[in-house]
Amino acid sequence: MTREEIFAQLYTGDTVYPPPLESKSALLEITTGCSYRKCKFCDFPKDAFSIASMDVIAHRIELLRLIIGGNPRLHLLGCNPFCLHTRQLLSILSMIRDRLPCVREVSMYARADDVLRKTPEELLMLAQAGLTDLHIGLESGSNAVLSLHEKGETIEDIEAAMDALDNGGIRYHLTAIPGLGGKALSREHALKTAAVISRHRPMSVWCIALKVWPDTPLERMVKEGEFEPLTFEEILREEREMVANIQTKMPTLYVDSTVLNKYTILGMLPEQKDLMLHQMDTLLETGSIA
Ligand code: SF4
Repeated sequence: MTREEIFAQLYTGDTVYPPPLESKSALLEITTGCSYRKCKFCDFPKDAFSIASMDVIAHRIELLRLIIGGNPRLHLLGCNPFCLHTRQLLSILSMIRDRLPCVREVSMYARADDVLRKTPEELLMLAQAGLTDLHIGLESGSNAVLSLHEKGETIEDIEAAMDALDNGGIRYHLTAIPGLGGKALSREHALKTAAVISRHRPMSVWCIALKVWPDTPLERMVKEGEFEPLTFEEILREEREMVANIQTKMPTLYVDSTVLNKYTILGMLPEQKDLMLHQMDTLLETGSIA
């Protein structure tokens, strides 16, 4: 079987969407789409949610054996495969342990409410079975912003999920979306997102600037004047304010590859915070804004 034939059986979509931190991880598709599908800014709800059968997952693991090449890290694909029942996740982790012994770390995307549906004992069992990292969509530290976009979770939920993961020994990574508050909630979005990040211990923060996707509820809100998007420059100013106010308790990787739609800002917080702020200032002062 050629690599192309293996990839065609491993991945059902044209594109896979691992977070940047997982760019070197092996990838195993578990679910497609998102089980929630209501966030107004999101482009994924157009894709139906589905869970691969255990037979299909077992077959994909056998295929992955042929190409994994000793990779110690595996990312389970899907918008939130952590919504699966604990017993299903434990079966998948058990198959990974048995059939892919090189794998030492397993990650996947999760919604905070997926975490909260699991008991502390279940989280501990999952950590002991090999789950090491979850990528969680914080999006904003402001309840007003989350509610505006129908995220279906409050900041209190997301913070409770992070506390549960701390107790369960599972690392977490946060996604935030500069510009998500629009003009009306920009400052609140920046300050409250910085405050939530500062109160917890994310391994990384991945920022991805708001894009108004066609045929989303957000696009309709923009057309009807209910949401006024920021310009690229305004998004960068907002992001600068957020970064300036982050006070992390432990080293946290910060990355945004969407700055002004063409630059990447990347560094460790807190050591490289001033450097990243300086880079943002340079972009703002030197007219690098398209
Ligand atoms: S933002 Fe995440 S949780 Fe919300 S609909 Fe999109 S994939 Fe689902």
